[in-house]
Amino acid sequence: MRKLVHRPRRLRQSAGLRNLVRETKLSAHDFVLPLFVSERVKSRQPITSMPGVFQFTVAEAAGEAQRASNLGLQAVLLFGIPEQKDELASSAYAENGVVQQAVRAIKALCPELVVITDVCLCEYMSHGHCGVTRMDGGHFHVLNDESVELLAKTALSHAAAGADLVAPSDMMDGRIGAIREMLDANGFDQTGIMSYAAKFASVFYGPFREAAESPPQFGDRCSYQMDPANAREALREVALDIEEGADIVLVKPALAYLDILWQVHERFGKPTAVYHVSGEFAMTKAGVEKGIFEERAAVLEIMTSLKRAGADLIITYWAKELAEWTRP
Ligand SMILES: [Zn+2]
Repeated sequence: MRKLVHRPRRLRQSAGLRNLVRETKLSAHDFVLPLFVSERVKSRQPITSMPGVFQFTVAEAAGEAQRASNLGLQAVLLFGIPEQKDELASSAYAENGVVQQAVRAIKALCPELVVITDVCLCEYMSHGHCGVTRMDGGHFHVLNDESVELLAKTALSHAAAGADLVAPSDMMDGRIGAIREMLDANGFDQTGIMSYAAKFASVFYGPFREAAESPPQFGDRCSYQMDPANAREALREVALDIEEGADIVLVKPALAYLDILWQVHERFGKPTAVYHVSGEFAMTKAGVEKGIFEERAAVLEIMTSLKRAGADLIITYWAKELAEWTRP
């Protein structure tokens, strides 16, 4: 028999040895809980395609944020569903808009919790696109610079309400620079920007559109979200957002884009976030319901893989459960 010098299995012999050499460890500090806040509901409404996820009233969202904080989570990410939608997304930047109210309610209840706000127009536009649209014969266009103006106004109103970080998710060109300028010009130079820098036009967003009531009424989002085939373009997008002032860069979705996540983390060394999206959540839940795998083990393996691939922050609908499952 050959004498082996290297026997990697030596360090796998016991739980103690495995614990000592584990490279990737999860904690409650890694996770951000998304919350859907709606002006259209009187009390929390379940989202059918996402078991255990709800649309909340403003007061309920504050209560949920408090529970998240008590569990050891550091941050929530707010999405708003307004009473009124129009062609200018007016409710997105209204002083008393649903997200603005929710930020104030959460900050009043738990001032230490980091509040991140989604900055986009789709939930507030009657047509459901992330920007201002113009019809041109039979074609529609999403106008870039007009949209960026409204996004910057929205970000400013979130900052004024007390958001710690604003998170533009629209993928318009130049919006990070415009938001940074707008915030700085109004005395909010300490409000950070978490940029959805590489957001792909993905099939995995399906359930979210039910949750945020924002499906496009016509066309698709392929003229602003990225082609899933493009990795080099993703790196160029991230580079632009960093140049324009992004504090945190985000890759979305997660599991099908681990190569992008890894390259962004390696190349730029910026705090890097990943969004484990609604379709990925629903897919795993369906597997659990069918008895294919056990939920806790599956979710911990997924989250470990995201962190291993370079995620500093993970946005996930399992954030609360993960805070308990990763408790030392
Ligand atoms: Zn949008």
